[in-house]
Amino acid sequence: MDIYERELFKKLDEARDKVAYLRDIDIGIPAEDIESLEKPLSEADHLLESDKTALARNRLEGFDAAFDRLVDTHFSNLTPRQIDTISRSDQRPTTLDYAREIFEDFEELKGFEANSTDPAIVCGFAKLDNNAVMIVGHEKGAFHEDFRRGGSALPQGNRKAMQAMQLAERFGTPVISFVDTPGSWPLEEYLPAQCIARNLEQQYLLKVPHVSVIIGEGGSGGALAIDVSDYRIMLDKAYYSVISVSGGAAIIARDKRHITNEDMQRAAHNLHLTASDAYRLGVVHQVMQEPKIGVRKCDRDFFPLLKEAIIEGLSAVKTSISPFYIPDSRMANAWQFRRIQIPMLHKRRYKLYRRIGSYHTSITDRVKHIFGELYRIKWIHALFTPVRKSMEIFRRMKLREKEVPLLLQDQLQPKQLTYEDRWVECPNTEIHDCQDIWVPTLFEEYMGTCPNCGYHFRLTIDHYIDLITDSGSFREFNEGIESVNPLQFEGFTEKLRQAKKATHRKCAMITGYAHVSGIPVVVIFTDIRFRAGTLGSAEGEKFCRAVKRAMREKKPIVAVHQSGGARIEEGILALMQMVKTSIAIARYKQAGGFYISVQTDPTMAGVLASYASLGDFTIAEPNAQIGFAGIHVIEQTVKQRKPRNYQHSDMVMGRGGVDYVVKRGELKETIARLLALRKQRGRS
Ligand SMILES: [Zn+2]
Repeated sequence: MDIYERELFKKLDEARDKVAYLRDIDIGIPAEDIESLEKPLSEADHLLESDKTALARNRLEGFDAAFDRLVDTHFSNLTPRQIDTISRSDQRPTTLDYAREIFEDFEELKGFEANSTDPAIVCGFAKLDNNAVMIVGHEKGAFHEDFRRGGSALPQGNRKAMQAMQLAERFGTPVISFVDTPGSWPLEEYLPAQCIARNLEQQYLLKVPHVSVIIGEGGSGGALAIDVSDYRIMLDKAYYSVISVSGGAAIIARDKRHITNEDMQRAAHNLHLTASDAYRLGVVHQVMQEPKIGVRKCDRDFFPLLKEAIIEGLSAVKTSISPFYIPDSRMANAWQFRRIQIPMLHKRRYKLYRRIGSYHTSITDRVKHIFGELYRIKWIHALFTPVRKSMEIFRRMKLREKEVPLLLQDQLQPKQLTYEDRWVECPNTEIHDCQDIWVPTLFEEYMGTCPNCGYHFRLTIDHYIDLITDSGSFREFNEGIESVNPLQFEGFTEKLRQAKKATHRKCAMITGYAHVSGIPVVVIFTDIRFRAGTLGSAEGEKFCRAVKRAMREKKPIVAVHQSGGARIEEGILALMQMVKTSIAIARYKQAGGFYISVQTDPTMAGVLASYASLGDFTIAEPNAQIGFAGIHVIEQTVKQRKPRNYQHSDMVMGRGGVDYVVKRGELKETIARLLALRKQRGRS
């Protein structure tokens, strides 16, 4: 066999791979189109067998032309749904491919402690030009490596990734993460949500630059667990989304039992999950062009391009902190920071995520905000101190006068919504033989708990405000921040309008000042009646502003959560609010803050995987549902049946996710006791 022939055989193999790939990705190319590509290939094969090299070459050229034509027709305008499909192809390079092709001397670190060698996450040191870097990434593995669970990391894996990053921090080596996961593995036994929250917080505190690359699937919280980066690169056939396309389709489908292909198309379109969307929304810094049909393991030309992009990213982070730095990856310690630069790196990271989101604010709110910012300046603050103090004394006097009648009024005036004249049945009636309860009595005398078995009914947020804060002490702020429909999600504008009308609020979060047993605190509540209390841009912003106030005024934070998770309709913007709120809490704690998190029924998904789990103390109510995903989703994913109380607060406490389970009647007392533990250091 001469060299020409060998070359032709190689070309033939490559062509066959391409055809197999087209069949594999299944983006709706008609079968006859693909079959027509195979004809010249089998002819070329025959011709090569019978030594007719020239003719074979001719056939292969014919194939190339036909293939290019097909690519032009089918890959020029890919829909979001098609991109979603391509991103999950088996033939795409995985983290290990990139680690070996882009870097030198990759040394995998398998596990940092017993019970944590999760093969869905790989990490290890490697060399990028002359510098050591730490590589962390999701690994789907080659075909049929079931033990990697398709890149769904266990909490142990996420913890391993975090430990690897912290090891890198000790050596001053930058972190490069490769994101390719459909989401974290939803087994509540290992507290996946709480683990993601910790990762979000700790990644912010890293003292080394962090560049991330979205190489395939960017599946919600699981992706964020290793992706709180300073510079984000996304391949153009990858996706980044708050929920899978099928999950999104289940929400918008007209007929929930039969989800059609058209629903999937619409969901993918509505979720805005492509790289260009992420770039437009300010989540991604750079979009990498892949080959037209999507990158495959055999595309050797692609790796050097990505390497360049990574170096560019690291240099961009470095330049933004030290402007006199001349980018040169061959220099030793090219991307290390000096100690005085680290606070600047953290501030940059905070600002980066703080910017993400889309909401409305009223003019009065803006004026108040500017005033608040001015107020931060020490001498202005000092100037106003006498005024503030006298106002505070006046307010207290008024409070004292009002106290008795206010309490009376509270009892006389029934609360809206929950105060209906009807009987309600306790869900435990069959077990404990409870009697039906008259609703007004339930809420006024029993604080929404069954007097027989102690079952805690779901309360609305107004009740919690009354329950936890001292009577008349609650003062709301930032009430003008309003939720919008930034992605123009189908039908969401109308739903939002209805929610605003029904609750008389502009978003699901309520922030304010209050006293708890006489101790001044910043309180954060979520209203479950407003779009299931989900976390969107407006909520994220409100949360950050409240935390900032608490930080400035050195007050503790008490937050009561009641939420279904991140807001699907705001797509990746909602996802980024998880990072934003977690960073706010991390900064607050760094500055010596004290944060009590109260998880009520329900505290789920994105909220549990971010700020709700980051409390210095985490309190939960009995029989509150606390979990990472819906129980049906979990059962489907892990293919196991789960008990009915799988996500009950008692179980979560048993796993170590909650510090106390406290009855509603003792909630305020417990919070006050915890608050008293901390020495008051506030200005007032
Ligand atoms: Zn009962």
